[in-house]
Amino acid sequence: MPFSEEPRSYDETAKRTGAEYFKFTPEYRTVGRILNPQARTVWKHFIQQANNGRGFSAVCPNTGPGMNVCPVEASTADLPKDDPERRASYAKRKFLVNILDRTPYTECNSCHGQTPGKVNAGSRNKQCVNCGADLKGHDFKPLNRVKILEQGPRLFNEQLNAIEAMQQEELGKDITEYDITFTTQGVGRDRTITALPQDPKPLEDDAFIDPETGEEQQLWDLDLLSEPATIEEITLMLQGATVEQINKVKGVI
Ligand SMILES: [Zn+2]
Ligand SMILES: [Zn+2]
Repeated sequence: MPFSEEPRSYDETAKRTGAEYFKFTPEYRTVGRILNPQARTVWKHFIQQANNGRGFSAVCPNTGPGMNVCPVEASTADLPKDDPERRASYAKRKFLVNILDRTPYTECNSCHGQTPGKVNAGSRNKQCVNCGADLKGHDFKPLNRVKILEQGPRLFNEQLNAIEAMQQEELGKDITEYDITFTTQGVGRDRTITALPQDPKPLEDDAFIDPETGEEQQLWDLDLLSEPATIEEITLMLQGATVEQINKVKGVI
């Protein structure tokens, strides 16, 4: 196994930020190697009030049929079943896997930041996402960072399942044996993601080495990521709490 077998700790998982999630953006294509053959299913709420109004998602604590402890769903339980507000309060199905972010990055000669190449309709060259400088002549290498891929059925059921079946049938290859390129168009509700498999290829020997520490990167613990949020956490999120504030209440250091 190329990555460290010990998964990331509870504290590290609790302190994850948005940067640990595999990104989809219309600015550039992202490339990833899925690392778990089986995705985990979770039911989540996006709580808009959380994180000072920037929003954060939480696994619904109603984990079985007939359970009604979740404050998000309890807040609309008096409304008729087909009421839009009540329906919007239901948890949504998400799928989780570890993914190695293989998006090509380079160091920008102008700002010296790490950057993927932004595609610009007006120019043939790619541009730095940080400072906008032209990246002509730059060498790009895969970022190779272990991240969390969390998306809904549109990506997993309609695209990734189809890719997996096709590659298995035509080439006898598992979904972990090739990179997938994701092209994103639009934002918000209008966003569409198109996934395209690349030729099967083993990862480079050093693909999991963290350039900063020289150690093998660990996978995210899918069990920890699927743990239901507590009532206390969700109540705090509904009051606008940040992840740091919630972690403090939970004693995460
Ligand atoms: Zn819920
Ligand atoms: Zn730059």
